[in-house]
Amino acid sequence: MSHAPALILHGGAGARRERNYDAEVVHMRQVVEAMKARLDAGASALDVAVEAVVMLEDSGLYVAGRGASPNLAGAYELDASLMDGATRKAGAVAALQGFRNPVVAARAVMDRTPHIMLAGEGAALFAHDRGLEPIGDEAAWFTRAGQGEDNHPPGTLSHGTVGCCVLDIQGRLAAATSTAGVFGKMPGRVGDTPIPAAGTWADERTATSCTGQGEYFIRVAAAAQVGWRVEAGQPLAEATQGVIDQIGGMGGDGGLIALDRDGNIAAPFNSQGMKRAWLTTGGQIGVEVFGR
Ligand code: ASP
Repeated sequence: MSHAPALILHGGAGARRERNYDAEVVHMRQVVEAMKARLDAGASALDVAVEAVVMLEDSGLYVAGRGASPNLAGAYELDASLMDGATRKAGAVAALQGFRNPVVAARAVMDRTPHIMLAGEGAALFAHDRGLEPIGDEAAWFTRAGQGEDNHPPGTLSHGTVGCCVLDIQGRLAAATSTAGVFGKMPGRVGDTPIPAAGTWADERTATSCTGQGEYFIRVAAAAQVGWRVEAGQPLAEATQGVIDQIGGMGGDGGLIALDRDGNIAAPFNSQGMKRAWLTTGGQIGVEVFGR
């Protein structure tokens, strides 16, 4: 039986009211439109989640891929993960340096190794051996490096990430997430994004991608917790809000996007805004930054 596909993506919960997000709004709509065509043509949830995140990474508009911000030592250490709900297979890279699309490296870890996560030098060696596209001129490639302070006031764990959750026409769910992490992070710091269950999760009922202060998302197993709450009978809206409330109660901020197998979409956040766009099972496309 063919299902109506659905999708939701985010460009991070670090949105600030004083900034203008017109370019991101236009871009996110373009990504959803492109992915709608792919889903209508029968593409798998996993492929579409990766393709959407590649578009977000390549745009330079978000703090992932081309838009990455450096760590305190000036190095770009990028994290990404993905999970396929139908098989519960997952792949991830942490603190990866020198490659254009961390989410593609995460997919290769899933498809080509017996492991789930590769980190640091090992991840870079693997990406090199797989022939993944390196970053050429790093300074020119990271278009937002000089804008980091505008994006993220020093001394705060400001953040911005990209992610996508997809339901395909076969009823399969998948999620993918990619980030440069929080601004001002220590060298070697790894957040929730590359950790399945913390920043990314997909099973047969839900798909979730998180964005925010990753340390808090790890402590509550945020993305998997959405899945467990839904498995226990909570509606998606309640399950996702419950997780964000728990993070807020601990002093953390951020948001998440989630999708269930019926095509319900949820995107709660407790930060000022969260860049996000979606496709409903009815075929409607929406884009929001600040409204809830
Ligand atoms: N969650 C990411 C991290 O902690 C940052 C973000 O979502 O903006 O690395």
